[in-house]
Amino acid sequence: MLVYCRKCVMPSTKPDLHLDEEGVCNACRSYENRKEVDWDLRKKELLQIMDRYRSKDGTNWDCIVPVSGGKDSTFQVVQMLQLGMNPLCVTATTCDLTEIGRRNIENIKKLGVDYIEMSPNPIIRAKLNRIGLMQVGDISWPEHVGIFTMPVRAAVQSNVPLIVWGENSQNEYGGPAAAAENNTLDRRWLEEFGGLLGLRVSDLVGFEGLTRKDLIPYFYPEDNELQRVGVTGLFLGHYIPWDGLANALVAHAYGFEMSPHHTLGSMVNYENLDNYQTAIHEYFKFLKFGFGRATDHACLHIRRGRLTRDIGLEIVKRLDGKFPAEYLGKSLADTLRPLNMSVDDFVKVCDRFTNKKIFKRDVNGALMRDKEGNLTKLNDDNL
Ligand SMILES: [Zn+2]
Repeated sequence: MLVYCRKCVMPSTKPDLHLDEEGVCNACRSYENRKEVDWDLRKKELLQIMDRYRSKDGTNWDCIVPVSGGKDSTFQVVQMLQLGMNPLCVTATTCDLTEIGRRNIENIKKLGVDYIEMSPNPIIRAKLNRIGLMQVGDISWPEHVGIFTMPVRAAVQSNVPLIVWGENSQNEYGGPAAAAENNTLDRRWLEEFGGLLGLRVSDLVGFEGLTRKDLIPYFYPEDNELQRVGVTGLFLGHYIPWDGLANALVAHAYGFEMSPHHTLGSMVNYENLDNYQTAIHEYFKFLKFGFGRATDHACLHIRRGRLTRDIGLEIVKRLDGKFPAEYLGKSLADTLRPLNMSVDDFVKVCDRFTNKKIFKRDVNGALMRDKEGNLTKLNDDNL
């Protein structure tokens, strides 16, 4: 049975979520703690770090900003420019870049920055998507590896030590850049924050015909290279109060394009716009843990006082966990084609990763679906 936080609408099945004795989750508690944070002091710390890493003679970039083209990365670039930084923006191209995602990348360049895009071999990427989906139930596994490895590789290659990431959704950690010593982003750091789900890149050499050279963009630089450049990083969300909606408004004012409608399985129109496969990634989260993107957003808005818990629950019931038959105008069959996977085979993989204890089943124990293919969560009195 799913147990939900009493303040937001997150179920306790979310990995690393803990409910305290009052039934309140650690994410709600840490949001409460934000009120105690001295944001002026944090901003001063940020400016000190920027001063430490800014190129003294202007012969190199001041920092690397990993950008997807999303609202947060647009916001990050706007922030860096306002702080007088000269960033090198680095995109690790998403698995299946959308048209709106491409336009938002072009928009970031027009903010006035140097920019490089690393687009890994699409044939290998599709193979990795398939492996991620089949092995760990995450089609986006290679993308989540790549958004950590490719900007770090770019930092080493361009001799730019500071990497400025956006939010660290896992915890309140600000990143190693604030430490005066031992602040290198080493491999251990990647393994802690990279979302690798127990599947390591090195494990894939020799797997399904993959060779070491196929996987170059997904390998983290060697420790001695990281030390030579002094590669370090920070999460901007530690230094300025992070709010996705506020970031979206800023990004929008700077040319970021939103979707005309909220996206499938979500309650907002300003994120997850850059990859057609995102709906599959989010759907598997719903199958494994019983919550999807609508739940994530309802929680963020409830904590900020923009939604009541009651209306949040209704929105979640209405929108969360929809079968990804189509996303941003691309059909599931088309999205699965590069993976050599049919929709029928996809549904079988879905079943394999579905937590059967949290969804309605028929008398034979088979998962019950409506005509759109959607599952229904078991009624839960804890709501
Ligand atoms: Zn909560």
